[in-house]
Amino acid sequence: MLMRLYYLFGFLLVADVSLAASMVRDYPVDRIAPHTYVIHGPLGYPSVENQSFMNNPGFVVTDDGVVLIDPGSSVQAGRMVLKQIKTITDKPVTHVINTHVHGDHWLGNHAVVEVYPEAVLMAHPNMIKEANAGAGDQWVTQMERATEGFTKGTQAVIPTVSTSEVTQLETGGVDFRFHAPDKAHSDTDVMIEVVQDSVVFLGDNATYKRIPRLDDATFKGNIAACKVAEDLAAKHYVPGHGPTGGVAVVEKFGRYLETLYTGVARYYEEDLSDFEMKPKIVQQLKPYHSWVNFDDQVGRHVSLAILEVEQDSF
Ligand SMILES: [Zn+2]
Repeated sequence: MLMRLYYLFGFLLVADVSLAASMVRDYPVDRIAPHTYVIHGPLGYPSVENQSFMNNPGFVVTDDGVVLIDPGSSVQAGRMVLKQIKTITDKPVTHVINTHVHGDHWLGNHAVVEVYPEAVLMAHPNMIKEANAGAGDQWVTQMERATEGFTKGTQAVIPTVSTSEVTQLETGGVDFRFHAPDKAHSDTDVMIEVVQDSVVFLGDNATYKRIPRLDDATFKGNIAACKVAEDLAAKHYVPGHGPTGGVAVVEKFGRYLETLYTGVARYYEEDLSDFEMKPKIVQQLKPYHSWVNFDDQVGRHVSLAILEVEQDSF
C-alpha cells in the first residue's frame, strides 16, 4: 500500500513538473482602453527566474477576433498569454503583429499557431528577412541558454505577411495603422496605432523604467521614431518593456537618447576619449539612474554613440 502510494505520489509530482514547464507562470491582464489589453512583463533580461518572459504582449478584441501584438519570448510564454486572453474572450486570435526581430517579442508566435493555425502573422519586411536568414534560430538558442532550458521546444514561427504591403489593417471594426521609421531600434521596427482606442504600441523604439540594448539601433533613427510616435498624439503609449502611460513614456525615452547622443557629439568635438566623457554623460542622465539595466548598458551606449558620431563626420 505504502509503495503504491509512493508510486502514485511520484507520478503526480512528475506530471506536475512537466505541466509547469509547458507554460510561464501567470501574469495579470491590464485593460488600458476599450478594446485594448496589455500583460506587462517583468523588467530584467530573460532568465531562469522570469522563465524568459519580460516583454509587454498586447491584444485588441475586435468584433471578429483578437489581434495579438508580440506574444512573448517562447512557446511557454505564448501559452500563458493565450490563457490570459481566454479570461477576457473566447474569440479566436485572427492576427499576430510582431514589432521587431528581437526574439523576446515574437517567439511566442509558436503558441498561437498551435491553437490557431489560420492566424495571419505580420511584421516589417526586414524582420521577416532577418528572422529567415538565421536570427530566428539564434534567438531560440539564446532564450534556451538564458533560461537554462526552460524554453526548450520553442520554434521560430516567422511571420509571412509584410506590414509594408498593407500599411494598415481593418478587422472587426477596429483600424490598425503601421508606422515604420527606418533604422530606429533595429531597422525591423513597426509601431502599431490602434485608431479607435488612441493607443500606440511602440515596440522597443521606446521603453520605460528600463534601459534597452541598443546594439542594433541608431540614435538618430530612434530619436526620429520617438518623434513620429509623439506626433500621433495618442492617449496611451505601450512601451516594449515597462509600464504603459501617456505621451511622457515616449518623451522620456526620447530625451534619454538625445541627451546621450548630443553629449557624445559635443565631447567628441572637444577630443574627449570615451572614458573621459562617460562620467559627464552619466551625470546628465541622472533621471534614468534608477531605471533597470542603466549601469549595465550606459557604457555600451556611449561607445555606440561615438561610432555613430564618427560615421556621421565622414
Ligand atoms: Zn528589442
